[in-house]
Amino acid sequence: MQQLSSYVGGQWVKGSQGGQTLVNPATEEPLASASSEGIDLAAALEYARTKGGPALRALSFAERGAILKGMADALQAARDELLALGMRNCGNTRSDAKFDVDGAIATLLAYAELGTQLGAGKFIVDGDGLQLGRSPRSHGQHVSVPRHGVAVHINAFNFPAWGLAEKAAAALLAGVPVLSKPATATAMLAQRAMQVFVENKLLPEGALSLLVGAPRDLAQHLGAQDVLAFTGSGDTGEHLRALPNVMRHSVRVNVEADSLNAAVLGPDAGASGDMLELFLKEVVRDITQKAGQKCTAIRRLLVPAEHVATLRDDLAGLLAGYKVGNPADEDVRMGPLTNAAQLADVREGIGRLGAQGTLVTGGAQPLFPKGYFLAPTVFEFAPGAQADAVHAREVFGPVVSILPYADDAAAIVARGGGSLVCSLYSEDAAWLEDTVAGIAPHHGRVYIGHPKIELSPGPGTVLPQLVHGGPGRAGGGEELGGRRALGFYLQRVALQGSRPLIQGLAKAGTQV
Ligand code: NAP
Repeated sequence: MQQLSSYVGGQWVKGSQGGQTLVNPATEEPLASASSEGIDLAAALEYARTKGGPALRALSFAERGAILKGMADALQAARDELLALGMRNCGNTRSDAKFDVDGAIATLLAYAELGTQLGAGKFIVDGDGLQLGRSPRSHGQHVSVPRHGVAVHINAFNFPAWGLAEKAAAALLAGVPVLSKPATATAMLAQRAMQVFVENKLLPEGALSLLVGAPRDLAQHLGAQDVLAFTGSGDTGEHLRALPNVMRHSVRVNVEADSLNAAVLGPDAGASGDMLELFLKEVVRDITQKAGQKCTAIRRLLVPAEHVATLRDDLAGLLAGYKVGNPADEDVRMGPLTNAAQLADVREGIGRLGAQGTLVTGGAQPLFPKGYFLAPTVFEFAPGAQADAVHAREVFGPVVSILPYADDAAAIVARGGGSLVCSLYSEDAAWLEDTVAGIAPHHGRVYIGHPKIELSPGPGTVLPQLVHGGPGRAGGGEELGGRRALGFYLQRVALQGSRPLIQGLAKAGTQV
């Protein structure tokens, strides 16, 4: 069985013990093992800070962008191999695996292009300079410079390629070295992507490291110039934020955690028509894509009370024909959950929803004797039901709940406690205005679906141009959003003094 390696200190290193076994979630066949035992984590971080940091800071944005372009091209060249790994280690259908790998490539390309736009500067000159007081010589200018630390990226199991790439793209473009830690269960794909980068000699030494296996006390080695970007469960996010060194040194932390994304069918969308069709199509995609293991997947369907029966029957009909099984079989449209722990967690979540709502289709029973398969599952709740279970905890699998509403859609959505995305399906301008005003503060993104938008990616696709994150339960973080993503890795500093001197210093930066 393959033993995965970490790339730290400029070399490939294996953990000293067997560690965790990675499996094919469709067959439970063991594929590889991953261990970080014995790896000197403090030294790995220091190598990134002292080797990778200065090398990246010496480059312009355009040069850093060229590195990202090289990384995208290298992944593109290895795409088939990476897709096959996604299918074996992550339980992805080929289409699910493309979503991850192509998403990684597209995000790297988007940040490569941003690097070209930012050009020859090595830092950001933030807005115009200001005269301070009466003397024209007294001048102030904000600049944003790369921090001199390391960015630790801890990723979730569901997007091993995209998670690595989207976080690394922003940090590397900002000029900050990265140590990336993929979730162990699906680390094969992230490790292979890293091998592709190393084999192609794309990055300066120390600019990008990869730690596979348990995180051990990784985050406890972070200091004042470092940043930590975490994607995963709210519980782990809370633990990391509360670490004494993180609090003592004000380590910047970005958390992307749980999310109870809602989709609201507008009162005008009716019991038939293009808008309803779009709603159903995007809901089915979100329930089934990656077996519902997407942080942006729709979990709560808000439907005008008078249309619930039609919607429920239509949805159940569409899901009834859905083929679930081993993604190695080309007819299969939905694969398994990622591992036994996820299967157990989702079954427990289905139990909680079932205690308060009515099961429409699917359920908690595993579909096959081997593998971590569940059927697409829909619950329905009565009008006015408190449905606490729906709003209290994300069920990270192919599960949605239908909630009837009258004039209280925004209030019901807000019960999610902060989510990544809410989607609205309506052309009623007055209703949209009211509803957006009610839900916007609770979200990082509001998606307004329309049948005339060709090839709409739906609410579940995270785009590099738009922010990804959400308040409250969703972690309070913000990633991507084009240039906005760089801010996390840069220190904004006000330069104050004599105008000619300050203007001279700002010349090496890019004015935005
Ligand atoms: P998790 O247990 O929190 O694990 C996430 C990552 O954190 C993994 O890499 C894990 O490493 C690592 N980790 C666990 N304990 C740690 C610790 N004490 N110190 C440092 N790192 C630690 O989450 P999960 O249950 O696997 O992931 C599913 C959850 O992620 C879902 O609830 C979903 O909502 C959330 N998610 C959110 C987003 C988003 O963008 N908002 C995206 C995807 C998933 P190991 O794998 O080695 O344990």
